[in-house]
Amino acid sequence: MKICENCRGIINKPLCIGCLEKEIEFWLRNRKPELIPKIRDLLLNMINFNEKGRKCIICKNKTTVCSSCYLEDVYKILKKKDLELGKQFRFLFFDLEKKIMLQN
Ligand SMILES: [Zn+2]
Ligand SMILES: [Zn+2]
Repeated sequence: MKICENCRGIINKPLCIGCLEKEIEFWLRNRKPELIPKIRDLLLNMINFNEKGRKCIICKNKTTVCSSCYLEDVYKILKKKDLELGKQFRFLFFDLEKKIMLQN
């Protein structure tokens, strides 16, 4: 079992936060591109590659921070700037995770 070094929860999602960030960036490009650097900075602060981490199904990197931690923090940044955007993000990405999980 892989444990998130941030929240100590079990990492049970298939995507690493690096791959999630790319999805979020793509989504933000037509909405609030000025927030992209913040989302990137957050990723760089959080991501940690470690042999003991969980392997991502897309990039195959092993990372030790769960996507929930990252999504929560991105959500906080977005909703501070734009509440409506935050809500859309929550709806889309928290749900996207579930969809990907069901497919795998
Ligand atoms: Zn976590
Ligand atoms: Zn990945």
